[in-house]
Amino acid sequence: MASAKTTMSTLSSDTLAEPPECPLCAAPMACIGELPKIIARPWVEVFRCTCCTHVLTRER
Ligand SMILES: [Zn+2]
Repeated sequence: MASAKTTMSTLSSDTLAEPPECPLCAAPMACIGELPKIIARPWVEVFRCTCCTHVLTRER
């Protein structure tokens, strides 16, 4: 009767994931967008450095 899956609506480690640091100047990067998940492709987050505007993408 009980489902084996846990609900994903509550806070999880994914929602609390910290943004990456800039590989160039080590400043915290700001998330400026997300590319929606496509078939056979992972979710992609786009970050931009708040200091040198270096852009980085991270797959989830
Ligand atoms: Zn930077």
